[in-house]
Amino acid sequence: MRKILIVGAGQSGLQLALGLQARGYEVTLMSNRTADEIRAGRVMSTQCMFHTALQHERDLGINFWESQAPRIEGLGVSVGAPDASRPVDWVARLDGYAQSVDQRVKMAGWMETFAQRGGQLVIHGAAVSDLDYFSRTYDLVLVSAGKGELVSMFGRDASRSPYSEPQRALAVAYVHGLGPRPEHPDLEAVRCNLVPGVGELFVMPTLTTSGRADILFWEGVPGGPLDVFQGVKDPSEHLALTLELMERFTPWEYARATKVELTDANGTLAGRYAPTVRHPIGRLPGGGLVLGVADVVVANDPITGQGSNSASKCAAAYLASITEHGDQPFDEAWMQQTFDRYWETAQHVTKWTNAMLGVPPEHVLNLIGGAGQLPPVAHRIANGFNDPSDFEHFFYDPDKAGAYLESVAGA
Ligand SMILES: Cc1cc2nc3c(=O)[nH]c(=O)nc-3n(C[C@H](O)[C@H](O)[C@H](O)COP(=O)(O)OP(=O)(O)OC[C@H]3O[C@@H](n4cnc5c(N)ncnc54)[C@H](O)[C@@H]3O)c2cc1C
Repeated sequence: MRKILIVGAGQSGLQLALGLQARGYEVTLMSNRTADEIRAGRVMSTQCMFHTALQHERDLGINFWESQAPRIEGLGVSVGAPDASRPVDWVARLDGYAQSVDQRVKMAGWMETFAQRGGQLVIHGAAVSDLDYFSRTYDLVLVSAGKGELVSMFGRDASRSPYSEPQRALAVAYVHGLGPRPEHPDLEAVRCNLVPGVGELFVMPTLTTSGRADILFWEGVPGGPLDVFQGVKDPSEHLALTLELMERFTPWEYARATKVELTDANGTLAGRYAPTVRHPIGRLPGGGLVLGVADVVVANDPITGQGSNSASKCAAAYLASITEHGDQPFDEAWMQQTFDRYWETAQHVTKWTNAMLGVPPEHVLNLIGGAGQLPPVAHRIANGFNDPSDFEHFFYDPDKAGAYLESVAGA
């Protein structure tokens, strides 16, 4: 059977490894950490995944935590004003529920499953020189190593990467003890709190190593009042800062967070990165070719919560391309076509995410504000998180946005 090496055991690498393994491919998975190290390590994401991405996991029968993870049935948007009031506040139901399973739980569990099913798991932080050797011994080498150093093999695609610097400073805290939302106590929802000019606070339920929890995730405009987490090493100081900023900018979220405590000493994360699209094919010094997967080739800012969703969609698309290709060589043309197939989806995510990082134009403010009075608009925006290609039809162009709002208001 064909031999495939996958470097990097995250959402995309593991999903692909388990999918290929189930189809009889001889898969080697290389990870720079063991399952136990991942499980006991730092949180990596907020990993909220919507229906289509979750369905790819169900299709492979690897949705092991679906019954334990909170079902996120709604998505809400609030906009904060400088006086800390909340002029916009709405929530809409998702057509299919979303879920967040701490990547420490999921990746560690999937890695163990892959090994139990007879997969070859190699614990090694791969370097370019290793890949040079492996590209000669495997039919295909896939690099799914996230935003790590191996991305240096893949050139930045400037035409698809409008930003060369990070657009947000990220600060995540996993907590127990968050109270329900008074407005809709029985609806599990992810809430996006937008504080114009300052940043965003995302609050969502998750399943973590210690059971059900919630995530408080600040995205701060660099240099602004939320950009204060760099260099904070003490997790309790990180949480205290998170709460202080919530009290100042989003008091409605702070009101239910007064009793929270961190889930564990590794339940915080801070960092930043520039959103980047890369050329998908890496050329090794010895002439071999490798194909980049998910964040390696398309790394968007998490402001729209799409990276894990995209990683799942990328893995599903690559799995189909690999199996459809049968015994033919995985050459450069196939690699490009395989990425292009994924880009059909990823381009919409990239366009929407990059738009959300900029200052919102008036028609976008009208849409977000109008959704408060017009439930169908709220429903459409919320469900766009599952399928961002829909934004093409009403979100970017002022005329289309205006016509859409008028049509809903008139109906
Ligand atoms: C703060 C934050 C919040 C986020 N929130 C969301 C969200 O709510 N929803 C969403 O969909 N996305 C979210 N994302 C994005 C999402 O987490 C990523 O896009 C997704 O995990 C990417 O999957 P991946 O498979 O490409 O890479 P990763 O999941 O990053 O996996 C890469 C793996 O490769 C390993 N590795 C790296 N280098 C090597 C090497 N040389 N050799 C071997 N192994 C290596 C890494 O240790 C890691 O295990 C968020 C990201 C951040 C930072």
